[in-house]
Amino acid sequence: MNDKRLHPESLMMSYGYNPEWSEGAVKCPIFQTSTFVFKTAEEGKALFEIAYGKREQLPSEHLGLIYSRINNPDLEILENRLTLWDGAEECAVFESGMSAISTALLEFLQPGDLLLYSLPLYGGTEHFIEHVLTKFGIHVVRFTAGQSHDELRKIIANTGYSHKLAMIYIETPANPTNDLIDIACCKSLAKEFSTKDHEVLVAVDNTYFGPLWQHPLKLGADLVLYSATKYIGGHSDVIAGACLGSKQLMKRIKTLRTFLGNMAGPWTGWLLLRSLETLKPRMELQARNARGVAEFLSEHSKIEKVYYLGFLDESNPTQYNIFKKQCLSGGAMVSFDIKGGEKEAFAFLNHLKLIKLAVSLGSTESLAEHPATMTHCDVPDEEKVKLNISEKLIRLSVGVENHEDIIWDIGQALESIKILNEEPALEHLEEHHV
Ligand SMILES: *Cc1c(COP(=O)(O)O)cnc(C)c1O
Repeated sequence: MNDKRLHPESLMMSYGYNPEWSEGAVKCPIFQTSTFVFKTAEEGKALFEIAYGKREQLPSEHLGLIYSRINNPDLEILENRLTLWDGAEECAVFESGMSAISTALLEFLQPGDLLLYSLPLYGGTEHFIEHVLTKFGIHVVRFTAGQSHDELRKIIANTGYSHKLAMIYIETPANPTNDLIDIACCKSLAKEFSTKDHEVLVAVDNTYFGPLWQHPLKLGADLVLYSATKYIGGHSDVIAGACLGSKQLMKRIKTLRTFLGNMAGPWTGWLLLRSLETLKPRMELQARNARGVAEFLSEHSKIEKVYYLGFLDESNPTQYNIFKKQCLSGGAMVSFDIKGGEKEAFAFLNHLKLIKLAVSLGSTESLAEHPATMTHCDVPDEEKVKLNISEKLIRLSVGVENHEDIIWDIGQALESIKILNEEPALEHLEEHHV
């Protein structure tokens, strides 16, 4: 059986694991061990030579197990399975999305280098770039979705460090407004600024859409990053991250991971293996539910605007063209502007009964939050205006519940806003009853 020819969803239960290794167990056990026995001292010596890069691995050699900071069966099997979705050569799993992102940035940026990144960016990533990378003398500059290739070229040139451009880092679709950034365009820009001995890399945080609905490596990106806490984990019960790319780049990432010591543990690896078995049905159901939710919202009188990628069409040709090139679904993240402001948005959030009021996304349960005061509270006010992160914006991560129930919950929470505005006495009464 040529495993590579089967679809990823068919391989999530078996790929990379042989029951003969573990007493015939159908499921890969949790290898809760810190260290592994060498067959002979010679084998131990050879494994260290390869792991520490003292010599090249021979084609006949396999990097055997040494110590769980370097490798562990649960992590290796998980990494092999994750490569299938993105068509990557290799993958490294981390103890969080932030550790995958920070390790990739640290490995490929040096003092004096220039990093170009897109806005809006996940708050933790932006903090790391602005407050940690800059401490090490790395120059950083930003752009927003919708800026053209020429404008980006000018932004880079205006820094005076264009010859030092080392990486373009983007997040698409961007959180929380679903703005799209053209991955192939970033790659062509990176090529323009690359020289024979200096390759500019494109890194994409694919958390919002991956690994099912967007495959950045196939569109020219060099590195793909994930918060595996989101869709990959999918059950709001584990924090983890992943980075994928070519063998050559991943070797560097894995080496730095070994020395930073931020790999995931076997228990996290096992949980994610379990999550991957249902990744596709979960995400597909979430996307179907999200379309229903977006349609309901777009017709509701208390809603001003819906940010949902499944609605893109010729009326917004720039975004629609990017969507057609790189997105395989409308996704399961729906944001919307409610009529009013913070008061109305909070009334809605406080009245939800089924949907949980929490940050994070991509999980089986639907989640709602208020970006302006929660996930994006750090974004300066003038930038919030530019990015449409207003006080009336709500972000929804649509889960796998029955779609009629999700819509019912949204509907009744929206109704409660009327009570608040028009019949304050009733709202008062209600409060006393609970
Ligand atoms: C959550 C998230 C991260 C950070 O991941 P953690 O697992 O929380 O460290 C990075 N990028 C995006 C887009 C995210 O949503």
